[in-house]
Amino acid sequence: MGQKYVYLFSEGSGAMGDLLGRKGANLADMISLGLPVPYGFTITTEACRRFYDEGKQIHPLISSQIEDGLATLEQITGKAIGHPTRPLLVSVRSGSSISMPGMMDTILNLGINDKTAESLAYQTNQPAFAYDSYRRFIQMFASIVLDVDSSLFEEELLRMKDIAGVTRDSDLDADHLADLINRYKKIVSEETGHCFPQDPIEQLMKATGAVFDSWYNQRAMIYRRIHKIPEHLGTAVTIQEMVFGNAGVNSGTGIAFTRHPSTGEASLFGEFLLNAQGEDIVAGIRTPSPLSLLQDNMPVVYAQLKKTAHKLENHYRDMQDIEFTVENSRLFLLQTRAAKRTAEAAIKVTVDMANEGLISRDEALLRINPSNLSPLLQYTIDPHSVLDLLGTGLGASSGAATGIIVFDAEEAERLHRTGLSVILVRPETTPEDIHGMVASDGVLTIRGGVTSHAAVVARDLGKPSVVGCESFTVDLEERRLHAGDRTLNEGDVITICGSSGQVINGEAPLVPPRFSDEFKTLLQWARDRKTLPVLASVNSPREADLSRRMGAEGVGLCRTEQMFKDPHRLGIVTKMMLAHSAYERRKYLNQLIPIQKDDFCGIFRAMEGKPVTIRLIDPPLHEFLPNAEVLSLEIERARVAGDTGELKQKIALLERIQILHESNPAFGHRGCRLGITYPEIYECQTRAIAEAALDLKREGIHVYPRIIVPLLSHTNEMLAVRVNVLNTLEQVYTQYCDRMDIPIGAFMELPRACLTADRIVEYADFFVYGTNDLTQSTYGFSRDDAEGKYLAYYLDHKILQDNPFVVLDQEGVGQLIKIGIEKGRSKRPGLKIGVCGDHTSEQQSVLFFQNEGLDFISSLPHRIPMSLLSAAQAAIHTEKAPVPTTKQK
Ligand code: PEP
Ligand code: MG
Repeated sequence: MGQKYVYLFSEGSGAMGDLLGRKGANLADMISLGLPVPYGFTITTEACRRFYDEGKQIHPLISSQIEDGLATLEQITGKAIGHPTRPLLVSVRSGSSISMPGMMDTILNLGINDKTAESLAYQTNQPAFAYDSYRRFIQMFASIVLDVDSSLFEEELLRMKDIAGVTRDSDLDADHLADLINRYKKIVSEETGHCFPQDPIEQLMKATGAVFDSWYNQRAMIYRRIHKIPEHLGTAVTIQEMVFGNAGVNSGTGIAFTRHPSTGEASLFGEFLLNAQGEDIVAGIRTPSPLSLLQDNMPVVYAQLKKTAHKLENHYRDMQDIEFTVENSRLFLLQTRAAKRTAEAAIKVTVDMANEGLISRDEALLRINPSNLSPLLQYTIDPHSVLDLLGTGLGASSGAATGIIVFDAEEAERLHRTGLSVILVRPETTPEDIHGMVASDGVLTIRGGVTSHAAVVARDLGKPSVVGCESFTVDLEERRLHAGDRTLNEGDVITICGSSGQVINGEAPLVPPRFSDEFKTLLQWARDRKTLPVLASVNSPREADLSRRMGAEGVGLCRTEQMFKDPHRLGIVTKMMLAHSAYERRKYLNQLIPIQKDDFCGIFRAMEGKPVTIRLIDPPLHEFLPNAEVLSLEIERARVAGDTGELKQKIALLERIQILHESNPAFGHRGCRLGITYPEIYECQTRAIAEAALDLKREGIHVYPRIIVPLLSHTNEMLAVRVNVLNTLEQVYTQYCDRMDIPIGAFMELPRACLTADRIVEYADFFVYGTNDLTQSTYGFSRDDAEGKYLAYYLDHKILQDNPFVVLDQEGVGQLIKIGIEKGRSKRPGLKIGVCGDHTSEQQSVLFFQNEGLDFISSLPHRIPMSLLSAAQAAIHTEKAPVPTTKQK
């Protein structure tokens, strides 16, 4: 019989997700649990792959298996496709092994044609229902299979509602619907040159091919790219007997979440539309009512739904998103899947489930992707501020976002590329808008509920969103948003709050995040479970204090140049950088050092008893120098104004800037190069560190300073700085009549340093990897240019799988790290090695650091939760599969 491409629901199982797609596998599973699922069969993902192999043709072997599946379905249901008195209608749904909500196509009511529509009308005695199903099918089939523009049907529908004098689709009567069907068929003939197909088998085969084909539509490809879903998976197609939520007032359709998808609250939550089909909710074209509508109208069905939801959650041990239909007071389940949820909900659900005993603590820690925590680490609207409220919709995805209003996805993408924050405002979003949603900071829709496409995708992307803001209207032609009697134009600034649903005029004041009890619990579990110490990269006492409260075990990196970024300090640093002589430099250093000493004291205090690693200054020079172009303009202005004093001074400044100008500041006169050529800078900094430490020691405070030398490439650089630092330390010790152990380490961020680590270690007491610069220098990429110009293309075209500045490139950069560790520890067993850089809060990178036997990771304060969770996950993974490390005991 050849390979099996079609599985009846009773032949499948929950474990067959790769073959049957998540939807097909879960439907099979629900059948075996004895739940009320309309029967059907699934065409496998292998059939999809073969479809593409055969040049987008369904192989005869597969079509004959589809016909066999259909024959069995006909037997089981006692109906037949195209039958004049017992017509079987089916849905044709997509479903990959990883759920991609709304990204591929679905066709409902297939099998309906001129004849079966009449028989359905006669049998049910509800002609309006039969014709409504037919007109929906024509529109779906024509737009998905025959490529007819869907808006042609929408316009006709609006026209017909006008003629009938009704506002809701469901208020059209049978005569109007019959008329509409004729108009729809006319559109099809005009657009395709053919009559609308009447043969149900032809409909079925074409629909199946079109659903396979939708695997490569634009929105699905973008979704896969964002979520790193492999292209080769393909989609399965599920054919299922139709049940009708549009069969009258005892029917309806809904979506139920076993817990709240925005807050995680442990109670059934969902939405319901009376007398409607599923697509109406998902597409956001009608704003549904809360599930209480079902509870009020059909309490027995509601109770059954609640029980079923509980059963499914226990079975899958995860929060479910269930699609259901009620046909004449009978409940049917159409789908269940792990629910998309906000980061806030994900944490509450996971911690609650672990506390309920449904999952273990390790499972709870593994279930949260650290990168998904970022919305929780964002600022929210200050609850005490006075807001200029424009209106309130439904808060669908938490967090606050401020940006300019943009009315279409393309414009959102374009403006985002120029560095602007944008809020995408749409009547409703469709899956085609996904690229605009990715580019936006937040999403606002006028229609749709919290289970609409906009809401589901925004939650998935971690973007704040407000939906169903029905007091607003959008004029897409004029590009205006009307909020009551106020009008906003494209480009005006608004703030949206995805928790409260508020839409605010202008920029609203924001406050730092507050962690929920569940979040705190999860972080505590992470701290208890991890083995790799997590330190903080801080530049001020306030940050040190905050980091310590979050559980940082010391400071892994204090970037001393960042301490000079406030305007007062910056002025002195700029003068120091522009100085012509060591004497002049010392003058400005003497102003800077007391300020820096105060900061060091604050950081040491906040981190009492913990190590504090301070990096000697590593200024990318251009960040501290005035902008030459602006200065040239000012010179012109001074010339015109005839201000000779100012003119002379500015010209001298410009000349100095031109002398200091670097073609490539990323690899310029910075780091230890600056410290070696201008030794007084490092000398003064060392003095400030040692004096701060000894002052606190006198107060009885336990301080553990370490000094680290940036941007080394040669052991002689390490030696030169070490000599300077040691001499300075000795002078301070003599002055204080006291001393302490201050190790001097090497910041490993250039390939040559890694390759010659056995030489560098001769003068270094410890190593810290700087994976940001190590990535730049290994690739020869300047990060700003790469991320701003070509990296997006590289990722789109799979030249690179990941952005190497986010996910550590283990193959290249990782190899240099390994070499450095091996060479360093070969000369100095037990050498302490840490890592700083943006990779220390990324899951896979932290696992690599753990496996390579590093002694600590250090992250920015707001990323510490991600690092803690990544480290806990790394500990769990390495325990499960121990990996040999290069760490020497
Ligand atoms: C690094 O290069 O990884 C690093 C931590 O230093 P910075 O980001 O300050 O260049
Ligand atoms: Mg660096």
